[in-house]
Amino acid sequence: KELDIPTISTGNILRAAIKNGTPTGMKAKSFMDAGDLVPDDVIIGLVTERLGEPDTEKGFILDGFPRTSAQAVALDAELSKLGRPLSAALLIDVDSEVIVKRLTSRRMCKDCGYEADAQCPKCGGEMYQRDDDNEATVRNRLDVYEKSTSPLIDYYRGCDLLVSIDGDRDPNVVYADVKKALEL
Ligand code: AMP
Repeated sequence: KELDIPTISTGNILRAAIKNGTPTGMKAKSFMDAGDLVPDDVIIGLVTERLGEPDTEKGFILDGFPRTSAQAVALDAELSKLGRPLSAALLIDVDSEVIVKRLTSRRMCKDCGYEADAQCPKCGGEMYQRDDDNEATVRNRLDVYEKSTSPLIDYYRGCDLLVSIDGDRDPNVVYADVKKALEL
């Protein structure tokens, strides 16, 4: 919001697709409920389509994508076609047990997706726990991360794009550090 550029969150796009009962949502639901990755072709199609929208011309933040090497390679190809290379790949580094605690106690607003602990302070909407934020599914998501996503750390280090930030601190401190590291 501060930079006036869109955040493209593949998780949010998929949750909206499930809510609206679209074919993509129906395909994705069982993978998401299990904490597994939705197949690459589905995700790459979604992101490619979204990057073609005019609000991305000034820049964009990708959240939750890429999560596999195939997605990273497809993203490189799409961005070089658009003539808009990535400026950074941000790793917000947090210990696994801290992640388990955070996700299992997280509540989101049913209406606008805002994350907080009680009633949504933004719109007053009802808060709920994501279906995949129970402990067993969170632990599977972490295993999937280790196996399929963590190799991307070396991939982006190799491209000289990796920016690593300690995420186990107050959110305002993490945010300030991210802005400093990205020279924003
Ligand atoms: P998130 O909201 O980023 O935590 O994503 C929630 C779930 O959506 C993940 O556990 C996956 O099932 C699915 N998902 C989101 N982004 C991706 C992606 N880039 N590749 C595959 N599956 C994804």
